[in-house]
Amino acid sequence: MTLLELKGVGEKRAETLRKNGIHTPLEIVRRYPKRYVHQKLSTLDEVEQDETAYLQGEIKSEASVYFIRTNLSRLTVRVAVEKTLFSVSIFNQHYLKRTLSPGLKVVVYGKIRNHAITAQRITRADGFEEGFLPVYNLEGIKDKTFYNLCMTAHAHLQDHFVDILPSTLREKYRLIGYSTLLKHVHKPANTRVHKQVMRRLKYEELLLYQLKIAYLKNRRKSQTGAEQNYDIDTVRAFIKTLPFELTSAQKRETNAIFKNLKAAAPMHRILQGDTGSGKTVVALICAVAVMSAGRQVALMAPTEILARQHYENIRALVEGTAFKVVYLSQSVENDAAKTIKEKLGAGSIDMVVGTHMLFSKTVVYNDLAFVITDEQHRFGVNQRLSLKKKGKLVDSLYLSATPIPRTLAKTLFGDMDVSILEDRPENRLPTKTTLILSQNENKVFSRVAETLSRGEQVFVVAPNITDSERTLHSVETLYRRYQKHFSSAKTAFLHGMMDKPSQQVILESFKALKTDILIATTLIEVGIDFPNATLMIVYHAERFGYAQLHQLRGRVGRGEKQGQCLLVFEPGEDYRARLSVLETTTDGFKLSAFDLENRGFGDLVGTLQSGYLPFEHADVSTDMAILNTARNDALIMFDDIFKDKKPAYKALRESVLRQVSQPKWFQT
Ligand code: ADP
Ligand code: MG
Repeated sequence: MTLLELKGVGEKRAETLRKNGIHTPLEIVRRYPKRYVHQKLSTLDEVEQDETAYLQGEIKSEASVYFIRTNLSRLTVRVAVEKTLFSVSIFNQHYLKRTLSPGLKVVVYGKIRNHAITAQRITRADGFEEGFLPVYNLEGIKDKTFYNLCMTAHAHLQDHFVDILPSTLREKYRLIGYSTLLKHVHKPANTRVHKQVMRRLKYEELLLYQLKIAYLKNRRKSQTGAEQNYDIDTVRAFIKTLPFELTSAQKRETNAIFKNLKAAAPMHRILQGDTGSGKTVVALICAVAVMSAGRQVALMAPTEILARQHYENIRALVEGTAFKVVYLSQSVENDAAKTIKEKLGAGSIDMVVGTHMLFSKTVVYNDLAFVITDEQHRFGVNQRLSLKKKGKLVDSLYLSATPIPRTLAKTLFGDMDVSILEDRPENRLPTKTTLILSQNENKVFSRVAETLSRGEQVFVVAPNITDSERTLHSVETLYRRYQKHFSSAKTAFLHGMMDKPSQQVILESFKALKTDILIATTLIEVGIDFPNATLMIVYHAERFGYAQLHQLRGRVGRGEKQGQCLLVFEPGEDYRARLSVLETTTDGFKLSAFDLENRGFGDLVGTLQSGYLPFEHADVSTDMAILNTARNDALIMFDDIFKDKKPAYKALRESVLRQVSQPKWFQT
């Protein structure tokens, strides 16, 4: 069936639909709403002061219009809701005056305060529909029109929908069928139907996700030809040159990675650990192995400053070996970059460290065999993929300082091997953490003074750039306060509203010890080393999750010197009790697990959701149970679906295969 065969679709509309990526009636029904507007009438006793709600009432007066300025008008009218008379005002809709006559039944959507309502909309009661109204965000076609098209298309197609979920599963979880879903997803009549729709969408999405990762893992395991014939003596000799002894976690995970390197199947592994736990060193030992096999390595970091830091660390460590390591980014001058590219192509460079430039079109590798990606969640999916595509069967290692507990990592990235560096190098003293009530800021100041007097640097972090009702200490006010209080020190500030080059300048200047105090938002969370920064102060600590505070305090004490962290919190609730966990626990994974328990995921998910998780309907912070169910089901059904190819799973299998072949899927 074509679009034109549908009632209500002519040439013009068909063209509009095509522009929105819709080419068939089936694609119409399958274009789910982006979100819903939940319209539900409230009674007066359900509504709180200052709440926005839908209320039904009757117009009791003529409307009056007042022009505040030429293009700012206020219409006011009296409306009786139940037995109460309200003065309802609405801005810039003076044309309503003609239609709002006494006796008319209306629905008012607005904010209620005492006997006044500030309305956003006033509509006739007979045109008001309760329920979830779809918002599609399509170009050139109204939501209502599109909804009607969906229903027309659904009526035509309803006998032909293929449900990818076999009936056994649907019955087991009492999930609505596909045809029902496609009908109700567009306008769930009430909360109960909405819930059913969401349950089905979430389960299906998470099951497909779990099947995909199981399938990819299986496929990867069956690939061959990725073995690295490294020279173990070269590796051993290199480890001997390191100026320290590897921690036991470093040794264990290095061995695990070497098994991957040796194996015929390509590696797909995430290496997690707090900043400073020694991930880069582990990655470098593995890089040396690959280079000893005469092949090439690329290490990609999300920012110039991080990439350069990696490069400098690595260069110092490989000095004295025969390996040629270079740095490549936008900041490398044209001529030099050209030479580097030529050498990469010819194979006379063994390892390149840099930013996303490493995968730009003009960079061609002779034999790229190992890709290390730092802070992977900061890269787009496609960027990660394109670097991998530069080699044939590339071993991939992702470095991440986001502590994702192992069980969660397995559930979310079941196809990845997970390495965790849970201990820190012994020479590094864990940062001392102290809680301070914000009223006692003098205590904070005296610590700052002590730190400065030792010639060490200070970080100050606040949640917001400017003050607001909730934020008493913002980057702006703190900057002024610190500048005044420590007038002989050099104070600077940094936040996300500044352009990237200015941020870079500030960070460089701090790194070069030209600044003593840096006041910033959580922007400085990234894994940058400032060995001379020893004091971290976090204002409004009560606003942050454990994991994030832990990351922040990890910014100091990166050198040999003892780091200190002051968590400044506002009075109230049980903040002190909650934050005190940080005084006693230094294990980032434990803290992240606490976050999972207490904040139902908290910041971790924010970080994950923005980079790792491709979910449209599911929200892992609330849908963990469904995720686990889907994972179990996927593992149980896997052989039936993909090995025995049971007919009941045909549609499901095809759906997984289709999605796997789409390039946006990052784990391929
Ligand atoms: P990460 O990448 O996890 O932030 P790095 O590998 O960059 O950590 O290590 C941080 C610092 O600690 C580096 O200066 C590194 O040389 C040093 N380091 C790494 N491993 C050890 C170790 N086992 N003992 C002492 N210092 C170490
Ligand atoms: Mg690092």
